[in-house]
Amino acid sequence: MQQYLIKTALFLLFFAPLSLSATPRQALVPGGLAIIPLPSFNSETSVTFNDNRTTLFNNGGSLYALAGISLRTKPGTYYFKINQNGRLIEKIGVQVAKKQYEEQHLTIKNKRKVNPNKEDMARISKERVRKRKAKNHWTATYPDVEFIWPVTGETSSVFGLRRFFNKQERNPHNGLDIAAPEGTDIKVTANGTVIEAGDFFFSGNMVYVDHGQGLISLYAHMSRIDVKPGDVVKRGDIIGAVGQTGRVTGAHLHFAILANGVLVDPVYFLPEQQPARKLTKIE
Ligand SMILES: [Zn+2]
Repeated sequence: MQQYLIKTALFLLFFAPLSLSATPRQALVPGGLAIIPLPSFNSETSVTFNDNRTTLFNNGGSLYALAGISLRTKPGTYYFKINQNGRLIEKIGVQVAKKQYEEQHLTIKNKRKVNPNKEDMARISKERVRKRKAKNHWTATYPDVEFIWPVTGETSSVFGLRRFFNKQERNPHNGLDIAAPEGTDIKVTANGTVIEAGDFFFSGNMVYVDHGQGLISLYAHMSRIDVKPGDVVKRGDIIGAVGQTGRVTGAHLHFAILANGVLVDPVYFLPEQQPARKLTKIE
């Protein structure tokens, strides 16, 4: 006899399993988010998605589990597993659909930013260790999920584009680029703690902010950084300014979000429409 019952439900892309009014929004595609409600969660419950840790968050008094769907995810069924006292009690399947991302071709004048020399490579590998550490940072605090746009401006490059620098293919674009003049203040997207800040070869001046439960936001190519690791920040606090440091073609903010190590499209965390540019200038 089975000691416990495994329930399996299949949610389709067009079938929203929860009634979240704002954000984060579910998007069952590579680079998107899978979200399920947790009606009977207690301290002995844990939730995984595709065998990775999920982000738990509160919204309107209800608890949810959120998982980032990596850009490399193939279409198919993936499972949330809800465990109680180490035993599987519920398995919920979600159907991840295909998403075709477009190509983007960029010309970078500083060729070393595309083909780094030996010295650069040594620097890059040291920075990779710091980045990995920041990316995998985890705290138990439930995150504040009321994200705001860090700067006001037009989206100059969307998430997921297949990128070619000087005709050579590199990693896909893993964030959202918001165009704004150099020196524009950057606001932190939600409450959190600064976990990394410094000058990186490709990303230029960059800041990582931990929001809790594996949810981390990242700000790159800044002209200046106003915070340091350990600083506690509140949504809207200014953490630096827009710049063009690192591998760039002009001034913009590269804004990225990690959900337990998985880079996801930040638009699913942001309010649908950002305020009109002229309105913010009146402030
Ligand atoms: Zn970018």
